[in-house]
Amino acid sequence: MSFSVHGIAVSSGVAIGRAVLVASSRLDVAHYLVEPDQVQFEITRLRSARDTVVAEIGKVQTSLHELTDKEGYLELSALLDVHRMLLQDEQLTDGVKQWILDRRYNAEWALTSQLDVVARQFDEMEDPYLRERKGDLEQVVERMLRVMRGVASPVSQPPVPSRPTSQDLLLDDTVDVPLVLVAHDLSPADMLQFKQSVFAGFVTDVGGKTSHTAIVARSMDIPAVVGARSASQIVRQDDWVIIDGDAGVLIVDPSPIMLAEYGFKQRQSEVERQRLNRLRNTPALTLDGQKIELLANIERPADAAGALRVGAVGVGLFRSEFLFMGRQGNLPDEEEQFRTYKATVEAMEGLPVTIRTVDVGADKPLDRSSRGGDDHLNPALGLRAIRWSLAEPTMFLSQLRAILRASAFGPVHLLIPMLAHVSEIRQTLAFVDRARGQLNARGQAYGTVKVGAMIEVPAAALMVDVFLRYFDFLSIGTNDLIQYTLAIDRVDESVAHLYDPMHPAVLELMARTIAAGHAQGKPVSVCGELAGDVQMTRLLLGLGLRSFSMHPSQILAVKQQVLRSDTAKLKPIAEAALRAEEPARALEALR
Ligand code: PEP
Ligand code: MG
Repeated sequence: MSFSVHGIAVSSGVAIGRAVLVASSRLDVAHYLVEPDQVQFEITRLRSARDTVVAEIGKVQTSLHELTDKEGYLELSALLDVHRMLLQDEQLTDGVKQWILDRRYNAEWALTSQLDVVARQFDEMEDPYLRERKGDLEQVVERMLRVMRGVASPVSQPPVPSRPTSQDLLLDDTVDVPLVLVAHDLSPADMLQFKQSVFAGFVTDVGGKTSHTAIVARSMDIPAVVGARSASQIVRQDDWVIIDGDAGVLIVDPSPIMLAEYGFKQRQSEVERQRLNRLRNTPALTLDGQKIELLANIERPADAAGALRVGAVGVGLFRSEFLFMGRQGNLPDEEEQFRTYKATVEAMEGLPVTIRTVDVGADKPLDRSSRGGDDHLNPALGLRAIRWSLAEPTMFLSQLRAILRASAFGPVHLLIPMLAHVSEIRQTLAFVDRARGQLNARGQAYGTVKVGAMIEVPAAALMVDVFLRYFDFLSIGTNDLIQYTLAIDRVDESVAHLYDPMHPAVLELMARTIAAGHAQGKPVSVCGELAGDVQMTRLLLGLGLRSFSMHPSQILAVKQQVLRSDTAKLKPIAEAALRAEEPARALEALR
């Protein structure tokens, strides 16, 4: 029977496919499809992992009597017998084989998929003793995964998925069916790991519209819904699902009529996409001849190609922190960073690249084990972004040197996140000078680098004139500016309805920042998610904004808005909105 789950729409489009449930603890398991001629190899890998674990258990059992007394021996030996039985249980082994044969999942993915199926059956058991055996099952699977990690699959690169087409709607059971990932939570680093994966859509139980997980999903231009509360508990492995990334809905077990309807919608958005593609080389000029700069937000050098494909005139935000995340404390050194920044600069073929210094903390923890919120009272207000960099001078200097060195290969701007105090500004600029001095001493080349500040804390917006004294340009981080102005955690779906870019206080802070920049002849851009929201383009133009930085996937749609806008007409409307108690109403005229 079909039913739907409502969440928050974060990345538009429709995905139709089979659900793949991934438990948070299993996100690091490789997920890729194997070629038909590798199926047998995967089955063999699995079998030998199982035999190895059975043998390990046997060895432990024979040495048990040396380690414990008779009573303990009997108890532990019985437990190990259970583990051995579970490993050889047909439901587990046959089920895993089926995932490999039918869906061509790699061995690890097949094993965790079947674990999910069997674990749910354990959960439903009435006998508490049997129910508790789920823990044992998880243990043996964990052991097999550990063994398999030592024997990697011959497939090193996961195949890049093609965008599912309406043809994929056919409810056949071929291996080419699109797959939709359903998880309780995905960290931004997890999401990044799935960037070139087989998934056609994402659903998570938690998260907000501007959480970094949502931001990465948007950058992949794949339909996604977050904050879908209990989706990962009610969807089962391999269920047919539809993600409506515009309405924020997940439909489970859709009827044929729904499938036809969403198939049509999918085809329509494909047509729209192709139509927008024609704007790629059209200059971004308003009807009254204002030149608008449309820049890209990217996370990795590989994203530069996508930015160029849609005609971005540069990178307005390179989120360098993605290079630092998920590395178990093994942070990238100067050389590794330099190579990454240089590769980005070269990939942009002479267009400017704005590299932001590391912004970890809050919902971008360095490692999954230190997820934001678990070990801090209020991570969004804690040691994040520039605060962390200033607390780690060696790391900060090596990043600054790496960025400066990359500027010898093309135009680079340096952007500093989360500044709020003049003392932080002075310290930061002193570090930049020191990094230059160190490069001079080493005789290493660097170019002229403009230094800018993010305006994302209300304090910074309120003292914007002071910021302009120190910096060459400003970039408004609306995601955080809204979070901190309205005291709403951007990752908390329970307060997502209060996350309001049209709040008069937010508009006021943005307007004064843009106006102050203009007054001093210094560029101001917006690089938060608002810049890529077509509903906001006219308002931002009316407020005087001329530079927008967003995910490449949004650039052409925003350009279309720009081409249809007349800034002279928009200015008075935006000014009226600024004076209004309820700006959203005043802005209805804009739509
Ligand atoms: C912002 O806060 O708007 C921004 C662009 O930075 P991030 O989303 O990475 O915090
Ligand atoms: Mg920010």
